[in-house]
Amino acid sequence: MLEMERIRRRPKAKVSKRQCHRCYGSGQTTCRSCGGSGYAATSRDPTGQLQSCRCTACYGNKSTRCMACKGVGYLE
Ligand SMILES: [Zn+2]
Ligand SMILES: [Zn+2]
Repeated sequence: MLEMERIRRRPKAKVSKRQCHRCYGSGQTTCRSCGGSGYAATSRDPTGQLQSCRCTACYGNKSTRCMACKGVGYLE
């Protein structure tokens, strides 16, 4: 019965962590500003040439830290 005692005595976690429903535990979500492309909407410079700027929200990473779990991946 030693094994049973050990299981019973195991301290219960005070907070049960749940997987984040928005990033599914990855802690990262697709950047909303660029839609996951990594680049902001193109604009034209004064000469009429198209410019593609790196997304300022995700810095070209295409994904941002999940706001729901603050990048942890789990909610408490
Ligand atoms: Zn999350
Ligand atoms: Zn972005």
